[in-house]
Amino acid sequence: MTDGANERLAAAVQARRDMLVALSHRIHANPEPGFEEQDASAAIAEILRAGGFAVEHPAGSTPTAIRARITGGGGPGRTIAILAEYDALRGLGHGCGHNIIATAGVGAALALAALAPNMPGQLIFLGTPAEEDLAGKQVMLDDGLFAGVDAAMMIHPSNMTHAEIVLLASIDVEVVYTGAGAHAASDPWSGRNALDALLLLFQSVGLWRQQLKPDARVHGIVTDGGQAVNIIPARAAGHFRLRSTSQADHEAMQVRFRAMAEAAGAAARSETQLRFFARATAMRHNRVLGARFGAHLADASVAQGPVSERLGSSDIGNVSLAVPTIHPMLAITDDPVPLHSVAFRDLAATERADAVALIGATCLAQTAWDVLTDPALLEAARAEFEAATS
Ligand SMILES: [Zn+2]
Ligand SMILES: [Zn+2]
Repeated sequence: MTDGANERLAAAVQARRDMLVALSHRIHANPEPGFEEQDASAAIAEILRAGGFAVEHPAGSTPTAIRARITGGGGPGRTIAILAEYDALRGLGHGCGHNIIATAGVGAALALAALAPNMPGQLIFLGTPAEEDLAGKQVMLDDGLFAGVDAAMMIHPSNMTHAEIVLLASIDVEVVYTGAGAHAASDPWSGRNALDALLLLFQSVGLWRQQLKPDARVHGIVTDGGQAVNIIPARAAGHFRLRSTSQADHEAMQVRFRAMAEAAGAAARSETQLRFFARATAMRHNRVLGARFGAHLADASVAQGPVSERLGSSDIGNVSLAVPTIHPMLAITDDPVPLHSVAFRDLAATERADAVALIGATCLAQTAWDVLTDPALLEAARAEFEAATS
């Protein structure tokens, strides 16, 4: 860009450094799980209101979702969405570093707002709750909160830096078996042991793994294994997650899992109830937008490594099927510290993490500015998106 916007956006982020770092540390110190992010969302909404945004909070059907808009004074144009997560992991806190995502998103939004008098089009900040467990972005898509958005972007902290991300399609399954209780010693034969069904399902899943492709993942926990050792369990329940890089394989896995669950129920003469929820799709990374973000990263002297082969899942995949989307990963450590760990949680409030949040804010703002001011860039991103759709 020759209009000096890159420098002005970087300066606008730096000028807000103290406030942004305070926001990051406030969210980190007060971890709130999905759909319970009252303090984080209130703090963000207040900052954006003060920054001149028209803020909806709650937004749509979700109390902790935010939609904040600012229309540029540079004439009509496109609409760019900056996304921010702020949910924590239950029992672990910010082991995924979503305080950094929130800070980068807010910083990018405020920097763009500082240039709003010359900005064509519209900027939308979307605060997206419950990424970890409940696919909050799908709820927001269903609520129409992405209406009119031409491209979406956010950053995520990691142990490696790469603009592109590969995600596993993911879905959760709640399995409940209902049998009949009985005294475990005096008349166990009159009971129907629901826990037997659940144990059989774990056996089936274990055997199934040999036939699964290397990228497939199935993992589960027992959420109800009975109430007393001397009572045949009348109820047993489990929570599983199924994942695959291939959307087609993922659909087939769900059919097979259902068949195994029902067979286990039949074997133990227990009724089977299945509830599939929190569906996240594989990621359709937009290379055009990813390359532009990468160029801004390089300007900030941040080098990219290879795309991580340690795959997870995110509801950003659902967004990526709706509009051209990027979700760059930015390293907050040089060590292979796994996400969702105590060590990663502790890294998420260090000076390095604070600096990465500001770099993320700057590169998001610069990339968004390019999309708003360079119609050819969005046209190329759109063409790539449509080619992938057809
Ligand atoms: Zn996570
Ligand atoms: Zn995360």
